[in-house]
Amino acid sequence: MIDFLVLGAGGAVPTPTHSPAAYWVVVDGHGILLDPGPGALVRLVRSPHGPDSLDQLTTVLLTHLHLDHCADLAPLLFALHSPLLASTEPLYLIGPEGLATYLRRLSELYGSWIEPYQRRLVVRELAPGDAMDPAAPDRGLKCGPDTTAGDEPQGASVTAFAAAHPEDRFGRYCLGFQFRDAAGHCAVFSGDSEPCPALAEASRGADLLVVECSTPDEWAMAGHMTPTRVAELCRQAQPQRVVLTHQYPPAAELDLPDLVGSGYAGPVIAARDGTLVRIGADRGGSGRIGTTPPGDRSGGQP
Ligand SMILES: [Zn+2]
Repeated sequence: MIDFLVLGAGGAVPTPTHSPAAYWVVVDGHGILLDPGPGALVRLVRSPHGPDSLDQLTTVLLTHLHLDHCADLAPLLFALHSPLLASTEPLYLIGPEGLATYLRRLSELYGSWIEPYQRRLVVRELAPGDAMDPAAPDRGLKCGPDTTAGDEPQGASVTAFAAAHPEDRFGRYCLGFQFRDAAGHCAVFSGDSEPCPALAEASRGADLLVVECSTPDEWAMAGHMTPTRVAELCRQAQPQRVVLTHQYPPAAELDLPDLVGSGYAGPVIAARDGTLVRIGADRGGSGRIGTTPPGDRSGGQP
């Protein structure tokens, strides 16, 4: 089973309903903080569907190192410097090429202030085609485009693919991810990307595609999607359901599902902060979609 919780449905420019990138993805019970953009930690612990303490956070996964996707890494490490946190488990920081350099630069700025008080950091850089076990993120899995069918990983996995987005200052790749549970359910996250073959291939037949839709068509820019681009991707890939995210304000003001729907007939929703999609649940629960207001820990839909 996979829960995909949108903590931030916007891009770099926050609005009351669309915060910068942040997601909480739970694969067969293993939680992953995906893209800790600005404010991610606060929204994570406030959400009724996330952990209520950073002690329960074991894995952080990053698509790329633009600030709207990684700015809360330093506050996370600063928080872990506090003796108030009790966990002694390793914290896995997993991301694209350049993550180790980024962390070293942060260390040059902040020194021991961002050294965890008692947790060990495990840093792993993924290249396109690399996969990890959500239960043991430092463990490599044989997977990816060069893998034959018999080599595909058994059990749950997270596999990186190359998104088409301008490279950042630290590495060559911006990544998207394909999440699989042990039963074979598949959720795909585009990261920031314009249309590209790797995104279409990863999304083919997915149970869930969470795809960026940064701008209206008339504001189309390199490295990002628009409603028309999303519709074309979905016609190619035929995902079971689609959630639109990373909406900058001009896109968030539109009826994005209607615009995508003019070129694609499948189910599409536009995420808001708090949107939760569950796939692979028992009968009656599969595909449930709910939204809980940020800060509401009192209930809401699962
Ligand atoms: Zn972005």
